[in-house]
Amino acid sequence: MWHVSPFVTSVFFILGVFTLYQVLYDGLKTLLHSKNIKIDDDSLNSIFGVLYMLIFIFSMQATLVGTPISWQFMNFQLIGLIFCAYFLNIKVSTYFFFPIMVLYMFFNGSIGYWESWLHGFILMIFYISLNKLRRRQKYRHPFVCYMLMGTVFGGLLWLCMKIKFALPIATFLEEWSYLVIFEALLYSYVGMILRDSQLKLKLLQFANHDALTKTENYAAYTEEINNLFDSSARNKLDLSMMMFDIDHFKQVNDTYGHLAGDKVLQHVADVVHTVINANDPNVKLYRTGGEEFNVIFPGYDLDSTEPIVKEIFAALNHLDVNIDGEDISITISVGVSMISKKDTKPNDFYTRVDSNLYRSKRNGRMRITVA
Ligand code: GH3
Ligand code: MG
Ligand code: MG
Repeated sequence: MWHVSPFVTSVFFILGVFTLYQVLYDGLKTLLHSKNIKIDDDSLNSIFGVLYMLIFIFSMQATLVGTPISWQFMNFQLIGLIFCAYFLNIKVSTYFFFPIMVLYMFFNGSIGYWESWLHGFILMIFYISLNKLRRRQKYRHPFVCYMLMGTVFGGLLWLCMKIKFALPIATFLEEWSYLVIFEALLYSYVGMILRDSQLKLKLLQFANHDALTKTENYAAYTEEINNLFDSSARNKLDLSMMMFDIDHFKQVNDTYGHLAGDKVLQHVADVVHTVINANDPNVKLYRTGGEEFNVIFPGYDLDSTEPIVKEIFAALNHLDVNIDGEDISITISVGVSMISKKDTKPNDFYTRVDSNLYRSKRNGRMRITVA
């Protein structure tokens, strides 16, 4: 004999549905990332969220269609919708929402009831209102607003069902209050999960970014070059790389101080980002050492790399960084190469670029060596 009330079972059921969502979503994200498929997290969350909830809502209802208790899973379904509307903040346009609603009523055999139509329209307004509430960040008490909205709309939605199924007032009040409790529970539970994943995201950013120049760092570079090296070799795609080092940078520090040196490094990164963004955002800059940077060009051969390298070279050699009224100018030395069939590992490629840079230094600096 199990003495667990349906309410307690429901709580665990709801938490289970969202935990499963989070696990599947994380798994999918990792899978796509490992296959180098680029889709931004928001789109993935939206597409996956809508599909997951539609399957959830329709499959639950399938077990009750045509029975006099076909309202029994309504709270679960509402919680699923609230999750999509408020927490995933998925925007579903009316053009899309309306046909899904009609399809659902058709599937549920409720298309002939005015109460169901009313229910559907209230639901649509509820969804859109939750979307809007979430987007408007200026509310001082987001939880109170969310609960207020959830309680009012929940009451209206249950009222439709009360009329349609002639539910006793006690059942109506019980279901409505359960919904309100589930809504509060969802808010705290999702808040907890999101805090956790935002923290993870921050740590990841911290690990991959250089705080001074806001450029990705050596760790990020290593991961990217390993991925690109493998996929370029596999798919016979071109890949080239530029590496540059600021000339006599020690003198900049010695003459103007370390803080001035830091500012120069920030300017250098800004200028290179500007040149790259004006050409091709797929090209990426990394700060791989103190005053050393690498630029990776996926899909580029030496001919197509050349104009961008020259542009970066010219921009940096003409850069005057004004610090406390003093113009500090710099020059850079550059090494460039592209992937070759003889490279068996990313380091073979890297070493060639590095030795080209070294040749630029040895041959008098402020020059580009390509080989
Ligand atoms: P070369 O032309 O041979 O590259 O000469 P260099 O002086 O640039 O080379 P070296 O490797 O001797 O010195 C690099 C200098 O870069 C030394 C170090 O103080 C400076 N440096 C490295 N990282 C930073 C940083 O984050 N901030 C500042 N201000 N200086 C840095
Ligand atoms: Mg240097
Ligand atoms: Mg150096």
